[in-house]
Amino acid sequence: MTIAIYPGSFDPVTNGHLDIATRSAALFEKVIIGVYDAPPKVLLFNTAERLELMKKAVAHLPNVEVQAFTGLTVDFARKVNACVMVRGLRMTSDFEREFEMALMNNKLAPEVELVCMMTKLEYQFLSASLLKEVASLGGSITYLVPNHVAEALRQRFAQRQG
Ligand code: ADP
Repeated sequence: MTIAIYPGSFDPVTNGHLDIATRSAALFEKVIIGVYDAPPKVLLFNTAERLELMKKAVAHLPNVEVQAFTGLTVDFARKVNACVMVRGLRMTSDFEREFEMALMNNKLAPEVELVCMMTKLEYQFLSASLLKEVASLGGSITYLVPNHVAEALRQRFAQRQG
């Protein structure tokens, strides 16, 4: 069975992430989405929240699981017996970063193959950070995230303003 992991911060999950997860689920027998517990970023949602938002977003995909992980992504891949790591690519800056990480990961775990998928045109400029900025300023983000994520963002920024 070909198991793939799709790791990321997912703070929060967007339709761009979901598109990559859905396309991966069609390619591999099992896809395990790895929610990175402590990315080097300031987070809006804690790990349990990011996990829940992701679980709800992929509940309709029977061969997709969601797990939190800490430490090296390649160690997570080994732990769940994955031989593929999926990443999404948007603009050229993603490519440079992914290329650098892929070379390092390949040194650490040559048995884990990287598969990069190009984003859909409509999600090319969609990033979780830009999304949060727009949401924090009250802009409409409904077409960029699942409904439950839009609601979670709305509540989080309402709490902060209140
Ligand atoms: P990370 O902190 O690991 O970059 P992210 O949650 O930002 O975590 O992204 C996880 C993965 O999803 C990365 O491979 C990223 O390039 C990809 N990704 C993010 N946004 C999009 C999008 N709009 N379309 C396709 N892939 C995306």
